[in-house]
Amino acid sequence: MSNILEDTQFIMKKYKIRANKSLGQNFLINQNVVDKIVESSNISKEDLVIEIGPGLGTLTKELLEKAGKVICIELDKKMVKILLDRFSLYDNFEIIHEDVLKVRLNKIIKEEKEKNGFKIAKIVANLPYYITTPIIMKLLEDRLDLESITVMVQKEVADRLIAIPGEKETGAITYSVYYYATSEGILEVPNDSFIPEPEVNSKVIKLTIRKEPPVEVKSRGVMFKIIKSAFMQRRKTLLNALTNTKVFMSKEEGLSILKDLNLDENVRAENLSLDDFAEITNKILVDEEKKDV
Ligand code: SAM
Repeated sequence: MSNILEDTQFIMKKYKIRANKSLGQNFLINQNVVDKIVESSNISKEDLVIEIGPGLGTLTKELLEKAGKVICIELDKKMVKILLDRFSLYDNFEIIHEDVLKVRLNKIIKEEKEKNGFKIAKIVANLPYYITTPIIMKLLEDRLDLESITVMVQKEVADRLIAIPGEKETGAITYSVYYYATSEGILEVPNDSFIPEPEVNSKVIKLTIRKEPPVEVKSRGVMFKIIKSAFMQRRKTLLNALTNTKVFMSKEEGLSILKDLNLDENVRAENLSLDDFAEITNKILVDEEKKDV
């Protein structure tokens, strides 16, 4: 079996690669971590895997052995050259040289399912940390036809993404993730599992896309706007935060809504469950409908 550290050093030397910090390049050199990511993604030959930011191809190599097809999306031209050299003989390898945020993933998944008969699509990645949140939000909000997303991210971000709404360590994004997926922490990863070592700790998480949302809400968009407003001023009470941002037209209206929903007037955004936010949204929208009649 080849040694992952030696392979990485060899490739970096051969292609004169210096990790590009501004592209979030930290290359994995810990075989146990690679194995754990692949194992927890539960990949079979029936699956289409999309890998974001394959870099030198350490994870890609393992994914190609397990998956029906691997489509890699990589922004760095130098990495693309390396990957083409390494994997062009694999008939299940494809690379897209593009910023993942600009790629129409929905179209790709739809075509692969229709033309090549893949039933299941999964995302697997050691993500570039500087754009973790936009990538995760794109994957979820575009409602991609995916089964799961297994990714390495900064530990602090991971904990926020997989927290249970209403409990500790939440942010507005916690509610989005919870709405679209169930989540689990897979593995904490020490800094010396990469070259160069990142300045932050890392964690692998897995999001499994829900078939049905966990709450019924009249407007998903309005609910997420309300959640964002509530967390923009998270140190304030929910009442003040939502009054200041004009979600509640007045303090009186806010108080009456909170009372109707049995919520304390001093409650803060982070104390609310997704259900609570769905109920606030529904109440506001029903009240508005009544006003319009
Ligand atoms: N997968 C490799 C590994 O585990 O060793 C590399 C992971 S490294 C943390 C992140 C990778 O994402 C780099 O290869 C970087 O060039 C790529 N990348 C950065 N920004 C990107 C973007 N907007 N779209 C696609 N790839 C990007």
